[in-house]
Amino acid sequence: MKFKNIIGCFLFMILLISGQTFAQTIALRAGNLIDPATGTASQNQIILVKDGKITDVGPNVKILPGTEIIDLSQAWVLPGLMDAHAHLTLNFQYLGAGLEGIYLKESTAMRALHGLHTAMNVLHVGFTTVRDVGNDANYAAIDLRDAINIGWFTGPTILTTGKIIAPFGGQSRRIPPEQGPFWLHEYIDADGEDEIRKAVRQNIYYGADAIKMVADNSAFYYSEQEIRVAVEEAHAAGLPVSVHVMEGEAARNVILGGADSIEHGFTLSDELLQLMKEKGTVLVGTDFPADHLARLDPSGEFIESAKEMGNKIIDRLKRAHKIGVKLVFGTDTVANLPGKNRGEMMLDYLAIWEAAGIPPTDTLRAMTVDAARFLQVEKMRGAIAKGLAADIIATTENPLDDLQALRKLMFVMKNGKVFRHDR
Ligand SMILES: [Zn+2]
Repeated sequence: MKFKNIIGCFLFMILLISGQTFAQTIALRAGNLIDPATGTASQNQIILVKDGKITDVGPNVKILPGTEIIDLSQAWVLPGLMDAHAHLTLNFQYLGAGLEGIYLKESTAMRALHGLHTAMNVLHVGFTTVRDVGNDANYAAIDLRDAINIGWFTGPTILTTGKIIAPFGGQSRRIPPEQGPFWLHEYIDADGEDEIRKAVRQNIYYGADAIKMVADNSAFYYSEQEIRVAVEEAHAAGLPVSVHVMEGEAARNVILGGADSIEHGFTLSDELLQLMKEKGTVLVGTDFPADHLARLDPSGEFIESAKEMGNKIIDRLKRAHKIGVKLVFGTDTVANLPGKNRGEMMLDYLAIWEAAGIPPTDTLRAMTVDAARFLQVEKMRGAIAKGLAADIIATTENPLDDLQALRKLMFVMKNGKVFRHDR
């Protein structure tokens, strides 16, 4: 007995040291398995999941005794969704005080907690990967990402850009000079090539997964060469560069400077969209519904122009799709609408993609495989295939026929762990 105990103890120690556990294999019976890459569905498939990863997929996969079976035979199963433009730790709850109001009212710790709350809402509606593109106080999204990765909290896989790099002033406007540059709580002022290089390096140092710049907040904007320097520096470290820009010469500089994506680009001309297609610049359009835009203005005076801007955004999305620009889904939700959480608000963008006449298959690609490639995680997640992370969702209706079926979610698994299963 004693000897057996010693052997048992010894084996246990080996397991502890090697970090291995006897993980349960899970078999998902998928009635309809959607492949967003091809826009097709295969019937009666089995997905095996172990240690957070997909170990096999197919119609004739063997289910060994002792395997936990999850029955999704009546459902439509697809990879977890991705949002390439989120601000998890930001909430415009001090309406009228703008971004600056948030810097003054909330500590970095509070922002991280807010981000955690939002992250849980986001996962609940099926987004298993989210890229946070800055405005996270003093790198709060990096701590949030790491805490979720450690397993302390439940949330989507988070990628972060660190602080936003911008010409003097960040995204503030006319702060009185005696207040000092307090936007530096959220932004790095970088003017000229040397400062831009340093700013990129600062973000990499603190743990960013990508670089985010704002090109055109003021009358002055980044030159093509300044963008190129940021891209060189970031790419050398394996990080992509995304740039907030709306239109015109500033956008042309972003495209020709070699940025990986334009964020927003609400009023890009056909000529610039064509240039994006030629250069392979991705559009993360953050295609706001008009009522979300209106919420950003507490006075209500903005509502008419919000409708106008909403229509311009739909028109730009339609033109970008027609021209063949690579589209990746991104929402940019920053203010909670009454009665809705941020996860639910992200799904409001589906209606904008429908209004732009984009087929559901193309939108699903922009939310899964194309997003994964853009976010540089395609070797780890973004599809239901052997060896990838088990980020899997299921709906009760077919999103290939009607995109709004994504609202009829009944199952969410992230890294092989079931987060939600409505029966
Ligand atoms: Zn944004």
